[in-house]
Amino acid sequence: MAVDRISKARPFLAWTARMWSAIALTMLVGGCLVLQRRSGSLPSARTPIDAVGRQERAECGREEGNKGYLPPCPATPPGLQGKLEVREDISLEETVKELADGVRVGGSWSPPQCLPRWKIAIIVPFRDRQSQVGPFLYHMHKFLQRQQLNYTIYIVEQEGTDLFNRARLLNVGYLQALTDGPFDCYAFHDIDMLPEDDRHLYHCSPQPRHLAVAASNQNYRSSHSLAYNKYFGGACLMTQEHLARVNGWSNIYWGWGGEDDDMWRRLSFENIPVWRFPASVARYKTIKHDPQTVNKKRYQTLQRNTGRYPHDGLSTIKYVIKSRVSHPLYTYILANIGTPPKPLT
Ligand code: UDP
Ligand code: MN
Repeated sequence: MAVDRISKARPFLAWTARMWSAIALTMLVGGCLVLQRRSGSLPSARTPIDAVGRQERAECGREEGNKGYLPPCPATPPGLQGKLEVREDISLEETVKELADGVRVGGSWSPPQCLPRWKIAIIVPFRDRQSQVGPFLYHMHKFLQRQQLNYTIYIVEQEGTDLFNRARLLNVGYLQALTDGPFDCYAFHDIDMLPEDDRHLYHCSPQPRHLAVAASNQNYRSSHSLAYNKYFGGACLMTQEHLARVNGWSNIYWGWGGEDDDMWRRLSFENIPVWRFPASVARYKTIKHDPQTVNKKRYQTLQRNTGRYPHDGLSTIKYVIKSRVSHPLYTYILANIGTPPKPLT
């Protein structure tokens, strides 16, 4: 009798178990779909499609490394300090000692407690400014971590002693970052510009953002109010889509000046407006240094850009990566980016 009851009960138990697993599966899939729809509709105006996709995958627990469920980071990071002190004197060694523990080798970081809203690459053109590396990394890691961003810092050095070509280095840094990416957006960031207020959020936006609105070496005069409101130098943020539309940066500016104005032109030819935060928060402390050789031909070169950018930029740059090393707080790239024409054109 007892045996009989058990054997009758078995199919029932199996059926109940199947029911419950079906219900659980439906709830899981349904939950993911709801999350997808929710995260797809809420930030749509500000969020690039691939960022939404990444967020959904992670929320559904399928992100690489599957750390399990993490709530999205809040829109306003909770630990912001507002005005910041800038330490110009800190060495790279001290910086590594203090910060390297929490940062992945190669200079990447992601908040452990929440799912970051943005994944961003910081690309820094570089040569012969060794004393600025410590202060920059010390300041920027802390700044970006308080903003709960997922980021990687790339320092891209020009090989040799020819005239400096900032824009070529930015193109190279971008292409190198893409191989680790995609990132939601890319910050092109001078090494001597340190943001003075962490409410200046390095979030990605549908329009390119000029970041360095007011700088100490300009007595904080705002690029909004200057006659020269087309200023796009110092530091800016762009998405892959923006960069594709303008073909990245021009390759033909050697020496100081012109390449940032050229980018402004590219954006205006494409009817892409630039956003800026108010000068009260978009403030930068600049580190003093010797001036680089000025490009006296820069205005002529700029005037010649009446739409030639499809033939000068990411599509045409030639370079050789001489070295790529993951340091504790940054990815270092040494590139041969060619030589300037003589005389400059
Ligand atoms: N830079 C560099 N070494 C140089 C010249 C320039 O590393 O010899 C990089 C560095 O990131 C610097 C940026 O290019 O912040 C812009 O150049 P610079 O500071 O000379 O221009 P400024 O904006 O001060 O006129
Ligand atoms: Mn400078």
